[in-house]
Amino acid sequence: MSVNDLSVRRQEKAPRIIVAIDGPAGAGKSTIARRLAQRFGLLNLETGAMYRAFALKALRTGISIDESAPLEALAAHTSIRLEPGDEGNRVLLDGEEVTGAIRDPQVSDAASRVSVYPAIRAWMVRLQQELGAAGGVVMEGRDIGTVVFPRAGVKIFLDAAPEVRGMRRFDQMGENGAPPAVQPEEVIRDLRARDERDRNRTDSPLKPAPDAILLDSTHLTLDQVIHQAEQIVLSKLSQ
Ligand code: C5P
Repeated sequence: MSVNDLSVRRQEKAPRIIVAIDGPAGAGKSTIARRLAQRFGLLNLETGAMYRAFALKALRTGISIDESAPLEALAAHTSIRLEPGDEGNRVLLDGEEVTGAIRDPQVSDAASRVSVYPAIRAWMVRLQQELGAAGGVVMEGRDIGTVVFPRAGVKIFLDAAPEVRGMRRFDQMGENGAPPAVQPEEVIRDLRARDERDRNRTDSPLKPAPDAILLDSTHLTLDQVIHQAEQIVLSKLSQ
């Protein structure tokens, strides 16, 4: 996606601020980012979707995702585009829409594996910095406030107890009508495994930036979290 494509989609009077939202899987980052984007007229960019799209390609290609070199070679011939929308990002992998396909649990696991490699991260970070360069964005992920935009105007680290995050994810899975094909315990286990990998990798581990505001949603309703996040952004905008 070119930076020009993005600038036409920003609301005209939207602030040029960069809002970074980081945190572990299932903390509610996407929902909060979407709501902040709507409220303040910002673009919402989900960086996890980019790692997921690349992981999907690696799985389809059948290459090993346990070594960096084949992944780097694959990355050289991969195009990933995010198109911001009201209901989340549309994700294009080499021109093909993969918005739904990247939510498969197998892809979640692979995304967390391919994201440990510094060369893959460097490529993604570069793309993300281009996407957000003009400001007016809410970008969510694991390293936005620490690596991608260390000078972001607002940094929120959204967290919740693993059991709570797992149960929320499980409930979301059942929202489209069909009952989830997995047990809640399995969802919590997968989520913990991904967290552990994200927190312990050498390159850009998941951790709050020193100047991030911590928002723990374990005992909060969605509306309460949204309210607090909006207040954080408002107080920054009024400075
Ligand atoms: O946020 P989401 O769950 O879609 O991200 C999928 C995976 O991509 C995460 O488990 C994490 O390992 C990786 N990721 C990352 N850095 C980001 C965003 C996602 O390492 N900025």
